[in-house]
Amino acid sequence: MICKTCGTEIADKAFICYRCGVATTEPQRRAPAASKRRGSRLPAVLALLVLMIAALYMGRAAAGETPRILSWIIAGLATILVAWHLWRRA
Ligand SMILES: [Zn+2]
Repeated sequence: MICKTCGTEIADKAFICYRCGVATTEPQRRAPAASKRRGSRLPAVLALLVLMIAALYMGRAAAGETPRILSWIIAGLATILVAWHLWRRA
């Protein structure tokens, strides 16, 4: 093949031109699309975790083991986290 930059005849299998050092192939690697959404995954996990804890505390609160105000605080926190997560997705 011929180097696109300097016009030197180089091997077909060559990745770079031996004369000017320019890559023979265009860099096709792109940043994975998942990396863009990385930031929004943590709140979802947190919300799920808080909801699970809230569910556990709700069950205990029903049995009269936990103060009622605590279960309301946890439920409120879970609601805020879910609302925040939904707001960020929009
Ligand atoms: Zn070259």
